[in-house]
Amino acid sequence: MNVRRAGRRASRLAPLSALFICLASTLPALAPPAAAEERGEVAVTIDDLPQNGREYGLDRMRKMTERLVRAVASRHVPAVAFVNEAQLFTVPGEVDERIALLDAWAAAGIELGNHTYAHRSFHEVTLAQYEEGVVRGETVTKLLAERHRLPYRYFRHPYLDTGPDLETRTAFEKFLADRGYTIAPVTIDPADWMFAVVYADAKAHGDDAAMKKVAAEYLAYFDAAISHAETYAHSLFGRPIRHVLLLHASELNAENFDAVARLFDRRGYTFVPLARALEDEAYRSPNTFASDAGVTWFERWAATRGSAADVPSPTPPAWIEEAYERLDAAAPARIPGSHN
Ligand SMILES: [Zn+2]
Repeated sequence: MNVRRAGRRASRLAPLSALFICLASTLPALAPPAAAEERGEVAVTIDDLPQNGREYGLDRMRKMTERLVRAVASRHVPAVAFVNEAQLFTVPGEVDERIALLDAWAAAGIELGNHTYAHRSFHEVTLAQYEEGVVRGETVTKLLAERHRLPYRYFRHPYLDTGPDLETRTAFEKFLADRGYTIAPVTIDPADWMFAVVYADAKAHGDDAAMKKVAAEYLAYFDAAISHAETYAHSLFGRPIRHVLLLHASELNAENFDAVARLFDRRGYTFVPLARALEDEAYRSPNTFASDAGVTWFERWAATRGSAADVPSPTPPAWIEEAYERLDAAAPARIPGSHN
């Protein structure tokens, strides 16, 4: 058992007066654990619209979009989907068709967010260039949000790279707040972008058996990633927190979304809007993390507390990592860095 968690257990047995003193100083950490019947909550976010990974052509992008949007909407999952508008302009003559892919999300009532124009990593550009990527990245998406009477309010950092140092990070966060954006954090990261490239390659070869094998490995890893997040929540907060799940717009997720949703169903989760998830006090935890490491918010909170990560992460299967590396090296993404 985790030592910090054990300590919290003991404190709940303390006399009432002592408990009040404890509560006043460290309220979030002392919130009681969920009762067995209490349902977990998770907000779904989907990155890299219109398509994550190496582009596989408009026809497949269209089918993927239709299927993923239908899967999300039919389950009434209140997702937020993040756009890289540079993808609208990668093939001359396809601009309208690619805008139509984004429109399909908004038409289904799925909120769109800003993931910067060209998915550059924060540490590879200046603050001014990064901010320009935000402004340029909202041009079409904002119009679509207006057309479908949806809010437009969230920002997701590409690669979860929140800035090279605390000063730059803070300056950028002020810029975001001034423009009306709320940052979308992540607590569950199933590394789907890696599995998705291997899956798309199997699909391109019509290899159904390989697609099934990749999907099975993905779901097993995903389940371990949820367990990891739950364990981390208990380790840091002594209670379950409302989670934010990171997914990407891919054939892997389009064709396996129901299975993904069942992973959460089996654990008793409800899908909630991102705004509700962010009401959890956990997201107000101190966070002075400043590194280009694309880690979840658990690692950031833990680093801020000065505690090394004591919750070992699951590892994707070696053959998936190797296949991803091979495919990625053979044909890099068309948008710089759009693999994540
Ligand atoms: Zn991304």
